[in-house]
Amino acid sequence: MFNKILIANRGEIALRVIRAAREMGIGSVAVHSTADSDAMHVRMADESVCIGPPSSQQSYLSIPSIVAACEITGAEAIHPGYGFLSENAGFVQILEDHGLTFIGPTAAHIRIMGDKITAKDTMKDLGVPCVPGSDGGVPTLEDAKRIGEEIGYPVIIKATAGGGGKGMKVAQTAADMERAFMTARAEGKSNFGNDEVYIEKYLTTPRHIEIQVFGDGKGRAVHLGERDCSLQRRHQKVFEEAPGPSITAEERARIGKVCADAMANINYIGAGTIEFLYENGEFYFIEMNTRLQVEHPVTEGIFGVDLVREQIRVAAGHDMSFTQEDLKINGHAIEVRINAEKLPTFSPCPGKITQYHAPGGLGVRMDSALYDGYSIPPYYDSLIGKLIVHGRDRPEALARLNRALGELIVDGVDTTIPLFHALLQEKDVLTGDYNIHWLEHWLETNLGNA
Ligand code: ADP
Repeated sequence: MFNKILIANRGEIALRVIRAAREMGIGSVAVHSTADSDAMHVRMADESVCIGPPSSQQSYLSIPSIVAACEITGAEAIHPGYGFLSENAGFVQILEDHGLTFIGPTAAHIRIMGDKITAKDTMKDLGVPCVPGSDGGVPTLEDAKRIGEEIGYPVIIKATAGGGGKGMKVAQTAADMERAFMTARAEGKSNFGNDEVYIEKYLTTPRHIEIQVFGDGKGRAVHLGERDCSLQRRHQKVFEEAPGPSITAEERARIGKVCADAMANINYIGAGTIEFLYENGEFYFIEMNTRLQVEHPVTEGIFGVDLVREQIRVAAGHDMSFTQEDLKINGHAIEVRINAEKLPTFSPCPGKITQYHAPGGLGVRMDSALYDGYSIPPYYDSLIGKLIVHGRDRPEALARLNRALGELIVDGVDTTIPLFHALLQEKDVLTGDYNIHWLEHWLETNLGNA
């Protein structure tokens, strides 16, 4: 096992990894920008290294600085968290060249899944059901129009390098195609340096269902059921739960096996998430994330396993500590994302926290790097905490979420907490009757915002 690992991230996810390392008796090294000198992850780690100025480009994304921090501290492995360098195949390659271990999948797997066209082709070959659409990239507007007619409108044009909801445009009719095609290409180019796009049938009322997978890199892989992340704004998740309210045990076992077999087939190592749209009882693959997801705690809640611990174990060459048979679902878990954002526009709201109080009690988990007097810097993501609750069933989890939200105090900045208070009054949320468009409609109707 490793003696010391470095966490190439910040915020709640850095704490999450430090906690797992500490329970395993592994030393932790935090890295931070000058804007994060007072951050909780720096305080909580065993050691810390300042790796650059506030801009992510020059700190959390600076590969030479991170490798140097490993060399200075003697860290043997790096956990990337999510975002930043977590899906950067070049980074993984450089670590290998320096004799450092990346706690995550291989560069080859990251590369395959990072390009959505290659990912879809690979999954199709592995027997995973996909959304009907173009066969690979669509080079010209004429091709796009022809394919639109073939698969039938509405369609969605997606940048193959896209992510975080960027580089995706819907064309409702043929008249929309030119605008959608050009915008998706331009967004792909400006955000990801790649203007290749492909086209998919746009599903009108699907749920977003994702399967958590885990492999040991030696041909064994398991699935840990699904998460329903349908409540989204601008393709960004805000409320996630497991198990999915609409998924039966048979469906879970069937799609779970397809995913686990696919991962075993490619010798996948570590945690991964295979994302699907789910409509009328069918699953359609959209993309795979080759990292730990923000919403992993709901899966940990219902299976009672520590996914970060498991990531560290397999990266160190150990076997997984569980088999598929060991994994039994217990109860229901829900996560809500607390962002420092001002409603109704969701504009980022950095600033000083004048009072912070985390909820507690049975079945409540608050993953956050906040503390009284902390100043949220303006340079990074607006996620400041995740409130995760677990109950014996969905109604109990919902009641617990309501209760815990009532205890949570974050003063000094605007947050998304009022959104969740309001959502918990909605019948559709209480019954689990929602799809990926539900929240945007609700925001439009209730906040005049989409
Ligand atoms: P990203 O990499 O930006 O997260 P994804 O491919 O995972 O993009 O899609 C994000 C979200 O966009 C999905 O959860 C869903 O809400 C919507 N979406 C993607 N593809 C489709 C589609 N074919 N039909 C309808 N909605 C889609």
